Amino acid sequence: MAIKLPIYMDYHATTPLDPRVLDAMMPYLTTKFGNAASRNHSFGWEAEEAVETARKQIADLIGANAKEIIFTSGATESNNLALKGVAEMYAERGNHIITAATEHKAILDTCKRLEKHGCRVTYLPVTASGLIDLDMLRESITDKTILVSIMYANNEIGVIQPVAEIGKICKQKGVLFHCDGVQAVGKVPVNVIQDNIDLLSLSGHKIYGPKGVGALYVRRRNPRVQVTALMDGGGHERGMRSGTLNVPGIAGLGEACALCRKEMAEESARLGALRDKLKDRLAASLDEVYINGTMESRLPNNLNISFAFVEGESLLMGINDIAVSSGSACTSATLEPSYVLKALGAGDDIAHSSIRFGLGRFTTEEEVDYVADKVIDVVRKLRELSPLYEMFKEGVDLSKVQWAAH
Ligand SMILES: *Cc1c(COP(=O)(O)O)cnc(C)c1O
Repeated sequence: MAIKLPIYMDYHATTPLDPRVLDAMMPYLTTKFGNAASRNHSFGWEAEEAVETARKQIADLIGANAKEIIFTSGATESNNLALKGVAEMYAERGNHIITAATEHKAILDTCKRLEKHGCRVTYLPVTASGLIDLDMLRESITDKTILVSIMYANNEIGVIQPVAEIGKICKQKGVLFHCDGVQAVGKVPVNVIQDNIDLLSLSGHKIYGPKGVGALYVRRRNPRVQVTALMDGGGHERGMRSGTLNVPGIAGLGEACALCRKEMAEESARLGALRDKLKDRLAASLDEVYINGTMESRLPNNLNISFAFVEGESLLMGINDIAVSSGSACTSATLEPSYVLKALGAGDDIAHSSIRFGLGRFTTEEEVDYVADKVIDVVRKLRELSPLYEMFKEGVDLSKVQWAAH
């Protein structure tokens, strides 16, 4: 069977809608168009029923109670609501927040904003594994600390933080724990009770649901957590997030969670085997390849790998029938290497030559074979053109070469 090009292998950026999710959404995009806040007629009631079904489906996936789920426009909003909402609600207790250098921009930029408004933020470094140091976390907590925000799994390198241990430390110290669970929820088991998570962000479009819908779990007991709203008007979602609910999106998010819950174990095993096949084939055929972040604690669908002596942009161009992302992905006009890889201690060359492969529900073994063949072929060709690679093969220690100044 001929393979269909281009191949999508960027499932950390977004995922296609599962057709079963679309089926669950269709009625609410067409005949069942009611406003979930309309209390006086059946149009409103059926919309409300769809929302409450979804709330339960999401809660069931993360070990929460349905009442603890707040709907948002996506994880960027969930992260903003968690951080800004806690900072304002608990301002009398303290103004210190702890996060990590490798968090998503939706956390880091929110922290920067909070710093402008009088918060103090500690950005924990990570080791070469990509994981935070638990002793360092413990030592960073002061009597002014109100919140620790550490992601479950990283969107670039897929490493899974020791979330249960982080939750335990936060509980012992009486500090709230927010977790950006976007990449982990639906891929690996997440349980807010076992992990002592107080607030958890998730997003529809990373789990085969629609874009523009997400949720924030806000713990209701042990302790009861409250966040100040970012959005006022009408008091929807227990006052924490006003605005008419996106009923079709929410129905889709609910169905997406139900499917993940049902199929996660099998799907993760399949993707882990495909990811390992890709990794093993690349490592067997190419020298000087480096895996970024630990393989010991990692999402099954992620492979982030650097090809020394190859320029990331040239590699991307050479494999332009494969959709992946690169650690040197141009943010605006500048070629700025990934801050995540730099936080691991990677040099600019390694960061610039990295590729993130994100496998997903619709990835096939044929696609993995095609991608492995193509990447091996292109890396070999690019290295044939590389004087540095030639010198390296001749045994020249490149770190000791004195480059002529121009
Ligand atoms: C995609 C992503 C987000 C942002 O989610 P949106 O729903 O697109 O706003 C936040 N955190 C992580 C880790 C992500 O991967």
